[in-house]
Amino acid sequence: MSFTGCKAALYIHIPFCAVKCDYCDFYSVSDLGHVGDVLENISRQLDSLMSKYGVSSFSSVYIGGGTPGIVPPDKMAGLLEKVRVLGGGILPVEVTMECNPRNISDRNLETWISGGINRISLGVQSFQDTFLQMAGRRSSRKAVLSALDTLDKYRDRLNLSLDLIQGLPGMTSEDQIADLKEAVSWKPDHLSWYSLILEPDTPLYDDWDRRSGGISADDEEVWQKGCRLLSENGYKRYEISNFCLPGRESVHNSAYWKMRPYMGCGPAGVSMLRDNSGLISRFRTKPDVNSFGRGELLYDEVEELSPEDFLKDYLLMGLRIADGISRKEFREIFSMTPEDLLPASSARWRERGCLNSDDASFRCSEKGMDLLNSILIDFFDEIESSEVPVTLNWPLSGASD
Ligand code: SF4
Repeated sequence: MSFTGCKAALYIHIPFCAVKCDYCDFYSVSDLGHVGDVLENISRQLDSLMSKYGVSSFSSVYIGGGTPGIVPPDKMAGLLEKVRVLGGGILPVEVTMECNPRNISDRNLETWISGGINRISLGVQSFQDTFLQMAGRRSSRKAVLSALDTLDKYRDRLNLSLDLIQGLPGMTSEDQIADLKEAVSWKPDHLSWYSLILEPDTPLYDDWDRRSGGISADDEEVWQKGCRLLSENGYKRYEISNFCLPGRESVHNSAYWKMRPYMGCGPAGVSMLRDNSGLISRFRTKPDVNSFGRGELLYDEVEELSPEDFLKDYLLMGLRIADGISRKEFREIFSMTPEDLLPASSARWRERGCLNSDDASFRCSEKGMDLLNSILIDFFDEIESSEVPVTLNWPLSGASD
């Protein structure tokens, strides 16, 4: 297998937020003084990682954060131009930028689109002021509606994805469904409907009881109702929390779920790549704007993935998506079928009606999706006790298209 010419999904982390939301534990800082230096070093990091890991082009670009909209639009266009040149003179089919509603304006959109952005992921979270405020989100219904109105004018040139959070403090089931209905009324191409995860060390974690007012909706009931509503409106649930109109799956997120190579630039960006010696590793750019802004490229959380580790992650990620794991791709990577590697556990879960595989894919049934954690524990136990050696051929050439 040749080393050069690998295609990777590119993530660029812009670690700045004017103000921190009360539930957020993503890495970001509010001191905007480092923006210029960080962008410059992202550019250097692109060169460095591409050369070390033989990356020659990109399957998708996702600019996330933080708040990428904080970067002056001409500087963002400059960064995209660098990505275009490094990727062989073209930008990939999907170039997404995560946006806060307050960053959406005609001027910004025109510059982003001419720079190559063709998909906006808008952090709506809720349409209701009460819950935005309860969650410490610096946004408002007015800002969200104004952003959506503006974005509507560009829909022939932009795909739109909306992020909503299920279960903000104080929300009833009706409030959550009302948010979903309002989101659908804007006909986004894609919708991510995430459950709020309370992270320790965030203000909301410490103050949940007061802010929620003791209201806790029945998540399962809301979930079922929400999924029905989305399905009736033409949205397919293609991953646990992600829904889309036909053909509008996120190319970038799919790369993670399908364990394709990915390259993360900027403080806290995570990569999974294979080096010249064949070693596959996952590592994070040190989340520190100070050292990064000084031009240092430091990495932490470095994990070397053995073939067994890779197999476990492959199952963990691939079984999250409704289409499951492609049998063809699995065989090309592991030179065996999933059943060869998991003979006992896969038979057990098939008998219980939790696997719904056919000739094309190895996947969970709806019942299996709900029991995914138990299925994975069982699969991992079998991998750990198995004497069948796991071999790996990764990345596959052309698999990122
Ligand atoms: S805007 Fe996004 S990244 Fe920034 S603090 Fe809020 S949730 Fe976190």
